[in-house]
Amino acid sequence: MSKNVLVFAEARDDELRNVSFEALGAAREIANGGEVIGAIVGADNHHLAEELFHYGADRVISAEHEVLSDYTNDGYFQAYLQVVDSVSPDVILLGHTSLGKDLSPRLAARLNLGLISDVTDFEVEEGEVIFTRPIYSGKAFEKKRVKSGTIFATIRPNNIASLDKDNARTGQVEFEQVTITDLRTILKDIVKKTASGVDLSEAKVIVAGGRGVRSSEGFKPLEELAEELGGTVGASRGACDAEYCDYSLQIGQTGKVVTPELYIACGISGAIQHLAGMSNSKVIVAINKDPEANIFNVADYGIVGDLFEVVPLLTEEIRHM
Ligand code: FAD
Repeated sequence: MSKNVLVFAEARDDELRNVSFEALGAAREIANGGEVIGAIVGADNHHLAEELFHYGADRVISAEHEVLSDYTNDGYFQAYLQVVDSVSPDVILLGHTSLGKDLSPRLAARLNLGLISDVTDFEVEEGEVIFTRPIYSGKAFEKKRVKSGTIFATIRPNNIASLDKDNARTGQVEFEQVTITDLRTILKDIVKKTASGVDLSEAKVIVAGGRGVRSSEGFKPLEELAEELGGTVGASRGACDAEYCDYSLQIGQTGKVVTPELYIACGISGAIQHLAGMSNSKVIVAINKDPEANIFNVADYGIVGDLFEVVPLLTEEIRHM
């Protein structure tokens, strides 16, 4: 059975986030011949909206209002509701990003829908969609299907393949002026805390440091390695608690959940709460001077040694490749 699938795209720093393309890729398969509608909310997204066609949208809606230049739950909630209302989709997909996590429960409650959050995979069986999502901090996976009504799901970044960009796919963007009333939140300022521009949850390469880095200075070699690999730096809660770095870098159960192509854990013991945030990374490399460290149990490659010797050697080696 064909389905109309509505994908809410998300932009950051005037660029569409990859998870938007990944959700469009999923939507193409789920639609099963139905229509894929890409939607973007903001103050002026003319230049971004067009790109959604290139990644698989049949129809693109740009929902605009001058107060929507930056995200607020209040404003975006109203805009998203109006788009859903105008489209009446069979399936709604959002990225499982900070925005998606903040907005989707409220939307689900208002629309009276169940929410399948943090989807890492899906299959379409005789027109029916079966979603896979992690449970028990990533130690197991469950499969979920919706028997009736609109399906609403959030997609974890870096897990589902997007379609290749096809510049030949174009269309006419539909601009919708949305109505925003009783806005209770006004955003005054955004303070950016991550040094590199790469978002941890979408990073392809993460070099993470733990208490073993010993100081904020100790993160320097990790930053150099990350830069050489085109990645970004993350941390364990141990490193954050010790004030070696900012909490915005924390990965784990109470931090960010990441699934990069390559995760290099340096001086991290591998506590269960840390593994909850990174054990689904494609390739895990662990550098630890304790051969018994639990991190080696999830690592694909392990290096037993002092990170202050190993990390600079790796950086040097990669620099000359
Ligand atoms: P440690 O456990 O102290 O490990 C440091 C490691 O560095 C050791 O294995 C040591 O051998 C190695 N090392 C030391 N020096 C060197 C060197 N020179 N070279 C190489 N290796 C070296 N933790 C998280 O990370 N994320 C979370 O989201 C999170 N949420 C939590 C939620 C709750 C409710 C609780 C109770 C805990 C949570 N924790 C979380 C904390 C977690 O239990 C661990 O305490 C924490 O992950 C330990 O951080 P660590 O591995 O950096 O430090």
